[in-house]
Amino acid sequence: MSNDLIAKSSARRSAANMPDYEAARATFTWPAAKQLLNGMPDGKLNIANEAIEKHIQQGRGDQIALRWISKAGERVDFTYSQLDALTSKFANSLRNIGVEKGERVYSLLGRTPELYIAALGTLKAGSVYCPLFSAFGPEPIQSRMEIGGAKALITSSSLYRRKVKGIRANLPELREVILIDKELDDTRSYETLMEGAPEVFETEPMQAEETALLHFTSGTTGKPKGVVHVHEAVVAHNATGRLALDLRPGDIYWCTADPGWVTGTSYGIIAPLVIGVTMIVDAADFDAVRWYDILDQEAVNVWYTAPTAIRMLMKAGRDMVAERDFPALRFMASVGEPLNPEAVIWGNDVFGMPFHDNWWQTETGGIMIANYASMDVKPGSMGKPLPGIEAGIVEVDETGAHEATKPLAVGELALRPGWPSMMRGYLHEQARYEKCFKDGWYLSGDLAMRDSDGYYWFVGRSDDVIKSAGHLIGPFEVESALMEHPAVTEVGVIGIPDETVGEIVKAYVALKPGIEPSDELRLELTGHARKRLGPAVAPKEIVFRTNLPKTRSGKIMRRLLKARELRLPEGDISTLESDEK
Ligand code: ATP
Ligand code: MG
Repeated sequence: MSNDLIAKSSARRSAANMPDYEAARATFTWPAAKQLLNGMPDGKLNIANEAIEKHIQQGRGDQIALRWISKAGERVDFTYSQLDALTSKFANSLRNIGVEKGERVYSLLGRTPELYIAALGTLKAGSVYCPLFSAFGPEPIQSRMEIGGAKALITSSSLYRRKVKGIRANLPELREVILIDKELDDTRSYETLMEGAPEVFETEPMQAEETALLHFTSGTTGKPKGVVHVHEAVVAHNATGRLALDLRPGDIYWCTADPGWVTGTSYGIIAPLVIGVTMIVDAADFDAVRWYDILDQEAVNVWYTAPTAIRMLMKAGRDMVAERDFPALRFMASVGEPLNPEAVIWGNDVFGMPFHDNWWQTETGGIMIANYASMDVKPGSMGKPLPGIEAGIVEVDETGAHEATKPLAVGELALRPGWPSMMRGYLHEQARYEKCFKDGWYLSGDLAMRDSDGYYWFVGRSDDVIKSAGHLIGPFEVESALMEHPAVTEVGVIGIPDETVGEIVKAYVALKPGIEPSDELRLELTGHARKRLGPAVAPKEIVFRTNLPKTRSGKIMRRLLKARELRLPEGDISTLESDEK
């Protein structure tokens, strides 16, 4: 690192929201974190009150809350006051059509301003908000609306015609469909509803434990689960946004996650607005030049993205960023999948700061393990547990869940329940929910390791871990080693059954544009992996693909690679977006 970069990074560290991790860990309590909220009379609260009204009460109504960039590049700004009026209109609209407190309101929309208005308006009204990813087909939409008992849906006319009209007869509970752009026979017009609704709404005061959100998991490992979150989750959204993402009032913040998934809600709507930032929302899909332009022209301070996107930027090449230096950028974070060390280092080269990986799940509602602005980043590690979060590496057997005592032991990543954004259940799946808990631990289903400095390292999902000749092999380690090779852009690693050693390691490799697969390259990759990992862990088989199967939230679906390899049923593929080629 040049002297200039070292100076910049040490200044950044000492100015961080949490300059001293250990000190913060020693003093943090959730009741104290709750005190930071605005709150409502009689101990009640509402996420929407924290996200919008609070700022107006405190004189920040004229600050831009949301800057929306249309696909054509047009900018539309909404101040906190404007967002307040619009979300009140939406809450009144819901009341006017008989949607009540506690009833489920779904959205099926791309990144449009109406989605943000509907989400927050629904919360104001005390109804439950459930986002659906707009690229879902009719079947996953129907099953998710059935599970949650959707009473109302907000969508567009084209999505409605293509995806909902044909299944509506199967959804007797779905009373109201609101279209943001048109009125069809059996739907309502958003515009008409909003026109007739007052700009003032008395936000529903909620009990801490009343349901606010319903989120479906990504379906990476199987049938997606409906995860229930309550209003009190906002305590964790606020605390983790400040500590793990280093967000500050007035920051320009860009979360690239789609609002159809939990990251797009917890950190794409709630945390940033509660903290009082200006959020950038881009309606368009990924495009490397466009993304660099947004970071640059919008002077983004904090950027939260995902490994798939980072890998796509890496694939687009360094030349594209050679002339830029992003002076406003202060913090970059990543979530959703393991972040290969290669990507962290690339971030440092290109932006002068590393990507800060963090780990959490739909179930945890908020970030649980993270690399903080004030901490040394170990590339490939997820970082350390948030203040207020106790994590452990746990071995589960017939006698129960035991914390691993050996250093560097691989075990299930577990958390002590009790933080505010922890799920309150899997909807209609009590048994599946109860199975997540053992001996006072919440078991995440992921395997990890903790090093002697207290950093956590992702090994793999427990279903994906490979057992070969007595070794436990995490696919992530093998994938990361192959990712170091300059020809490689993406890797998925699975275990395939073998009579002699139990399982053998097989890698599916996608190459950089312009690089042709060849036996020679395969040998070279095998050699590289053997050198890095040793022959016991290196893949025995390498095959080339132009694309790997991924969920709509961008995660490599290893279970699908495996099912195909073994000619087994593919299982629930409702969240499959881009398939193997
Ligand atoms: P499903 O539970 O339906 O199979 P999913 O687990 O992919 O899907 P999410 O809740 O969206 O659904 O994702 C959480 C999971 O994503 C984590 O359990 C973990 O496996 C993975 N993950 C998230 N962040 C990270 C990270 N920083 N490093 C490694 N893995 C991560
Ligand atoms: Mg999961």
